[in-house]
Amino acid sequence: MKVALISPEVVPFAKTGGLADVSGALPKALARIGVEVAVVMPRYRAVDEKKFGLVRHARKVTAKVDGREVESGIFEGSLPGGVKVYFLDNPAYYGRDQLYGTPQGDYPDNAERFTYFCKAVPEVLKAVGFKPDVMHVNDWQSGLVPLYLKEFYGADPDFTGTGTVITVHNLGYQGVFWAEDMHLTGLGWEHFTPDGIEFYGKINCLKAGLVHSDIINTVSKTYGKEIQTPEYGCGLEGVLTARDADLYGIVNGIDYDEWDPEKDKNLAQNFGAGDVKGKLANKKALLKELGLPATGNRPLFGIISRLADQKGLDILSESMDEMLGLGVQFVMLGTGEEKYHKLFTELAKTNPRQVSVNIGFDAKLATRIYAGTDVFLMPSRYEPCGLGQLISLRYGTVPLVRKTGGLADTVKNYSVRTGKGNGFVFTDYSSRALMKAVKAAVAAYEDKAAWKGLVERGMNEDNSWERSAREYVKLYRKAMDKAAAKEEDAAA
Ligand code: ADP
Repeated sequence: MKVALISPEVVPFAKTGGLADVSGALPKALARIGVEVAVVMPRYRAVDEKKFGLVRHARKVTAKVDGREVESGIFEGSLPGGVKVYFLDNPAYYGRDQLYGTPQGDYPDNAERFTYFCKAVPEVLKAVGFKPDVMHVNDWQSGLVPLYLKEFYGADPDFTGTGTVITVHNLGYQGVFWAEDMHLTGLGWEHFTPDGIEFYGKINCLKAGLVHSDIINTVSKTYGKEIQTPEYGCGLEGVLTARDADLYGIVNGIDYDEWDPEKDKNLAQNFGAGDVKGKLANKKALLKELGLPATGNRPLFGIISRLADQKGLDILSESMDEMLGLGVQFVMLGTGEEKYHKLFTELAKTNPRQVSVNIGFDAKLATRIYAGTDVFLMPSRYEPCGLGQLISLRYGTVPLVRKTGGLADTVKNYSVRTGKGNGFVFTDYSSRALMKAVKAAVAAYEDKAAWKGLVERGMNEDNSWERSAREYVKLYRKAMDKAAAKEEDAAA
């Protein structure tokens, strides 16, 4: 099976969010199970030729934007492990420091930059001789690809029978541009309809992908259901509901080589499942590092997060006094909204023995928090997939989450009675519901034998990319079947 994965950002080349992690890890996992993968992305300024050992491809490509033929180069590189990555090289469009814009605002020519990217992708694949069985596009920046394939490559033997899949990583970003940009796309106005790419009088690039892909995928089953409702659908709930039969959800994995408590060099002591002492050594070292006293037998709660409303910081801040009243300790690592910086910094000042607040982004401290805490908090308002809960499970830290999106799919509430479950789960988005789960966790922590079982179960779970990659292969087959059926219909 040959899969072309199209993404605007891929680790280790360029990253603004989780999409880049997925686009870097999934191809590697697919390759390991025998799928032939090629990745296509733009070449931003940071994608340095020397640093990444890129080679300029002999062929150039041209694609039309705004009626003009625009030429670009192709660079060839690879992911660790060898998967080929093809970079569309057009310095005028992509040779910038940022991917999409600065904190002051998006680049004003994003419609042109990413329309061109989508137009050029099939040309890049033709130039390098990669004939995909499946084209897997990601988020709005590559959303127009499935439509262009239908519109301009229907009779092209390089793309006969190519199935299309779009993965939505966060529905909040849709690539919406004013109707006056239609001339850039090369599409006729017949596409500018409510059944097509029109969205409240504007062009919506993500919608193009949702309407025209054979299969739609999201990063968890629950998020796939949630986005069909007005509360989570960001205006696209109607489109998504209409395509419910083709809508799936595959939870992301984590890289088990990167996140491994038995090998992680940042830890005070390496440990595996069942090694209670090793885990405790990390807790002690973390408390010392943070300047918190070792209080013996009290649970340590942690949170590592963007400090944004999406992440449930409002209900968490309302709960803090009551939580600290239970005698627990609390460590936070994050950056984001100023109001939360202030609020939590103040909280640490007034509770120096119980609270440590670390404002900033620190990947090394993050691993030590995953390893050294007892309970990891994710009280999110919405969470397409979430990685923190998967990492904490691997590091023997019990996740406490709100039942939404990927959190609902990966964390099951612990029951004292049955001894089943891998974490603590609450449903209502309220500090009351959150506190109920916190109290359940504190009570469970008292029973050392049961807690050890809970921790071990989490550590022994398989949340690796291998498992997710196998799910993706099933989806790719579905997309190929749909594409084949369409061809048969057309031939009949
Ligand atoms: P999102 O992508 O919505 O921010 P995820 O849970 O999917 O949330 O992924 C967040 C990732 O970023 C996790 O791996 C988390 O550990 C990491 N992270 C978030 N904030 C920080 C920070 N301040 N320092 C270090 N790592 C962080």
